Amino acid sequence: MVDRDGAFDGRDDDKDKSAGRTFGKSGGGGGGGEKRSSNFSRRKMCRFCADDATSIDYKNVAMLKHFITERGKLVPRRISGNCARHQRALALSVRRARMIALVPFTVTGK
Ligand SMILES: [Zn+2]
Repeated sequence: MVDRDGAFDGRDDDKDKSAGRTFGKSGGGGGGGEKRSSNFSRRKMCRFCADDATSIDYKNVAMLKHFITERGKLVPRRISGNCARHQRALALSVRRARMIALVPFTVTGK
């Protein structure tokens, strides 16, 4: 009985120590949450509005490729960050570029 009691006491002490350690670690986790929130609030501006030099041109394939997925689809506005006006102009340019085979309509797997 006495032996058992002693063992229990030792265990309890150990638990207390580890709990203190965990508490300190969770404080560091709070910093991680802060990092995540900053990533979440990242807002993209329409790059055509921001820079007048960047014009939407159906012959500029390098520029169009930025707004086309690997499968040949147009990147949605909420992802690309374009404004409605420029997204529409971009879609028109992509359609023209597709017509003259500068960009693919679709990319099918093997
Ligand atoms: Zn714009």
